[in-house]
Amino acid sequence: MIPYEVICPDCGDSGGPLDEQPETAQGVRGPYADVAAAKRAMERHTGVVAPEE
Ligand SMILES: [Zn+2]
Repeated sequence: MIPYEVICPDCGDSGGPLDEQPETAQGVRGPYADVAAAKRAMERHTGVVAPEE
């Protein structure tokens, strides 16, 4: 199982090691079990619903 992470540049997440990111970015990073869970987390975080693929 591949964990999915949400990288939120708006929160200052550079995509680097988790413990080097701001607390707000760490909160949304995950990891999540699948891409759907990651997407829902991002939607909750940003308030924007991502288009279905
Ligand atoms: Zn954010």
